[in-house]
Amino acid sequence: MFGLARTGMSVIRALTSAGARVFAWDDQERSRREATASGANLVPFSQWPWDRIRALILSPGVPLTHPTPHGVVTAARKAGVEIIGDLEIFGREIGYSSVNSAPVIAVTGTNGKSTTTALIGHILAACGYTAEVGGNIGKPVLDLSPPGSRTVYILEVSSYQIDLSPGLAPDVSVLTNVAPDHLDRHGSMANYVSAKCRLLEQARRMVCIGINDPNSAYIYARFAGAKVEAAPISIGKVIERGVFVLDGILYDSRRSPSLKIADLKEAKHLVGVHNWQNAALAYAATLELVKDAKSIGAAIASFPGLPHRMEDVGSIRNVRFINDSKATNADAAERALVCFDDIFWIAGGLAKAGGIESLSPQFSRVRKAYLIGDAAPNFAKTLQGVDCELCGDLNVAVAAAYRDARRSRASAPVVLFSPACASFDQFRDYEHRGEVYRALVAELIAPAREAS
Ligand code: ADP
Repeated sequence: MFGLARTGMSVIRALTSAGARVFAWDDQERSRREATASGANLVPFSQWPWDRIRALILSPGVPLTHPTPHGVVTAARKAGVEIIGDLEIFGREIGYSSVNSAPVIAVTGTNGKSTTTALIGHILAACGYTAEVGGNIGKPVLDLSPPGSRTVYILEVSSYQIDLSPGLAPDVSVLTNVAPDHLDRHGSMANYVSAKCRLLEQARRMVCIGINDPNSAYIYARFAGAKVEAAPISIGKVIERGVFVLDGILYDSRRSPSLKIADLKEAKHLVGVHNWQNAALAYAATLELVKDAKSIGAAIASFPGLPHRMEDVGSIRNVRFINDSKATNADAAERALVCFDDIFWIAGGLAKAGGIESLSPQFSRVRKAYLIGDAAPNFAKTLQGVDCELCGDLNVAVAAAYRDARRSRASAPVVLFSPACASFDQFRDYEHRGEVYRALVAELIAPAREAS
């Protein structure tokens, strides 16, 4: 096993308990220390007995091909040892055992994977299934429970994991969308698209594909006449045979007459058009199992949402506070900005290439911007014509944004924390950043509640 974070440790536990002899290594001294404390057999990979090794299990974070293959990959290839990931072991040992096998739904795409995966899990749990949700979200797959009679596995799968899972053949594969991302690791857009295609091509019963972007539409076109059922999912456009959302209403036109399934505006924790896409995909992926469209609609409405993604963390009188810390780039922040009209926007952190110029069509929604972290001076330059305050850190920004939102004449002011930046200049990760925001808002809410 190479790469000893959460996934690596779950692989070691699973293989060791199955009687395998496992050699483990990681480039990071800290990970090695933690792995030793958990009883891993640490040996530098140059000293592994390569002629007796059955497989190299690679953490998805380790470069397989680009920018250059890691040394351990080169060593495995030289020795003719196969290179796989934890999902492949799952596929071989748990997901597809001929006895007791449980349906597997796999979700991939550039954006919306976690939300769609969690929503599918929520729908199935609400409809009486044992939903085992894992992969790139939550638990590593080898930590999921063995299948019972009502088990469905719902797996979030990154493109790196697809590269390491040649045999993974889900019952249902879901593709949310495809935009340029992680190209440093895939080498080119074509490689990235073909990784996503592979998961779909190996689906055994059905594929559900968001067709709003050109790459996904191209992938969907490849499924014309395929053996598996292919459901296209469209937002904002009627399609003749598929699932679509128009003005927040979810329709299914795969059979005639087309059916109105649900009003997605009732799903309070699925705010924004992008979340309607996630909801439509989740509906399409679960209908065949659940059979009852109404129950799915009700479950979508009761979805509690995921932390740090358009998360409503409270209100003080008419001022709403939204935690969208997961918005680590301009694209994601745009999804949040389009949802509101009177925004007191907290943004900044470690800048991403391209900055926030692409967001200029949405600047008219911003009453004032509160800028933090490394990116603040550059963001202020880009935000020409928008009132800006350089706040340094989140503490100062939350207080200032609330002060102004409270005083504003807007009827529904929103303090929106959607940073459009990575978090690493001031925080451990986006989760830590979102927790700090949530705590700062809670500190404001408590005295306000006492006073009222
Ligand atoms: P992922 O797991 O693929 O990163 P998430 O569900 O965690 O996706 O959402 C991360 C961010 O991506 C959200 O904050 C939102 O800005 C954006 N997003 C979510 N769903 C979609 C979608 N269907 N299309 C485009 N962007 C989306």
